[in-house]
Amino acid sequence: MTSKDGFQWTPKTGLVKGVPTIGAISPKSNIKSDATIYDVIVVGAGYCGLTAAREAAIGGLQVLLVEARDRIGGRSWSSNIGGYPFEMGGTWVTWGQSHVWREISRYQMQDELEISQDYSSGAKHCCLSGLTGKKNISHDEEDALVESGLRKFVNVDGQYGRGVMPFPHSLKMNPLAAKYDSMTAADRMAQIQDSLTQDEYTALVGFILLCSGGTLDNMSFYEFLKWWALSNYSYEYAIEYLVKYKFHGGQSSFAIRFFEEALDTGNLSYVFDTPVKEIHDLGNSVKVTARNGSVFEGAQVVSAMPLNTLNDVVFSPRLSQGKKAATNMGHINQCVKVHAEVRNKDLRSWSTITYNPKDRFLYAFGDGTTPSNNTHIVAFGSQYNHLQPDDDIDVTLEAMQSLVSMDAERLVFHNWSKDEFAKGAWFFPTAGLVTKYLEDLRASEGRVHFANSDWARGWRSFIDGAIEEGTRAARTVMDLHKLQVSKKRSK
Ligand code: FAD
Repeated sequence: MTSKDGFQWTPKTGLVKGVPTIGAISPKSNIKSDATIYDVIVVGAGYCGLTAAREAAIGGLQVLLVEARDRIGGRSWSSNIGGYPFEMGGTWVTWGQSHVWREISRYQMQDELEISQDYSSGAKHCCLSGLTGKKNISHDEEDALVESGLRKFVNVDGQYGRGVMPFPHSLKMNPLAAKYDSMTAADRMAQIQDSLTQDEYTALVGFILLCSGGTLDNMSFYEFLKWWALSNYSYEYAIEYLVKYKFHGGQSSFAIRFFEEALDTGNLSYVFDTPVKEIHDLGNSVKVTARNGSVFEGAQVVSAMPLNTLNDVVFSPRLSQGKKAATNMGHINQCVKVHAEVRNKDLRSWSTITYNPKDRFLYAFGDGTTPSNNTHIVAFGSQYNHLQPDDDIDVTLEAMQSLVSMDAERLVFHNWSKDEFAKGAWFFPTAGLVTKYLEDLRASEGRVHFANSDWARGWRSFIDGAIEEGTRAARTVMDLHKLQVSKKRSK
């Protein structure tokens, strides 16, 4: 099936919107009766919504899953082009992420992972491209540079962040760390800039903007400290956890298991291609109205939509002040991720880190070998020198060529900035958002429960956080359901 999402370019076809994926769902609905009042309506079929829907369905509840797109997976989905999965959004997973790993072992997918990097032959270097020009360095030198820059950046306590954030999954905001949420990355750079060499500066900024998808001026320093703490306070683990292990069959091969398991219970109804317009809590049930006029009713709702889209849905009663303030602030991540399938075999072991006004991408590397024995390159940009890759494909091709000379057969990407059901990539907050509004974002309002990776406790911004949140939402829904059933019985 081909999704309406994503773009593919080849010299022969030019730029084409829509990409084949096993995540596209047909038929688009299995609803049997419009009159059903569901135990729970889950809005959004990303990993969070899929987890919530599956858990509630396994728990015996009648569940309706409503999704705006024609596919599952939300910000994590893979295309299937010539038998190869280009990852359009969320990609890498690891056993260091406990929610993800539980699911991987549950679906017996432990041997369905592969390693992105292969430095065994070919170019075997990293091109560092900063304000003073380009130079090739070995991957060992690349690692040493990023690591030394990062250690200066995070060393706020003489313990490389361990002192201020000893428990990164804690339910409470550690006051020692919270103060760093009033700082941006630019504020922290100003404190350490004199201690950085020019090359360390380039490598450090390229790496941290890769993490935030924002700019130095708008990314929260606190949130970066949290990523660092989650990565065992080390660059080695950051690479292991953030950009190493991915599914042979792509993310959609993982997401489809959640959906199929939920369907197998017989308790899941679903409807795709149906953006929700209004969520109205009536006091004893909730009415969900779609843009196409369909109306669904449920005893409870899980809103599994991302932060940057919540303002597009009318909630009644209105969202709490804190939630509203957070949605008005939004998160900053405008990551641009573009894949190129190239004939240059030597680029399999190539990488680049850039931070200069000319380059539109900050980070790129050989990410795989396609069935045609071509090299797959993945490139990342951010709000800095932001590129809209579908605006002018020649500009996008040029931006890729300026990283390294490549003989491109194909480009594949999803423009997350223009995607109305995401309005950005993974969650990365600006200074102040998390300390002020995290608890507001997590709070249920009446019969509506808010769940998304964007406000997870642990691996917030990751697939792991989405599963953590979906599990929390399902638990809340089932507890309330039990309470309502026992109240009815005792009447
Ligand atoms: P989403 O996936 O955003 O799901 C929300 C769903 O709600 C979507 O399907 C959306 O269509 C739907 N929706 C929105 N509005 C409406 C509406 N009005 N009506 C009905 N439905 C609606 N994570 C990792 O762990 N590893 C990575 O390597 C990684 N890399 C990433 C790279 C990119 C480019 C991006 C974009 C993300 C990446 N992430 C990564 C983050 C990860 O993809 C997300 O954190 C995770 O997928 C979010 O899941 P979610 O279910 O919480 O939200």
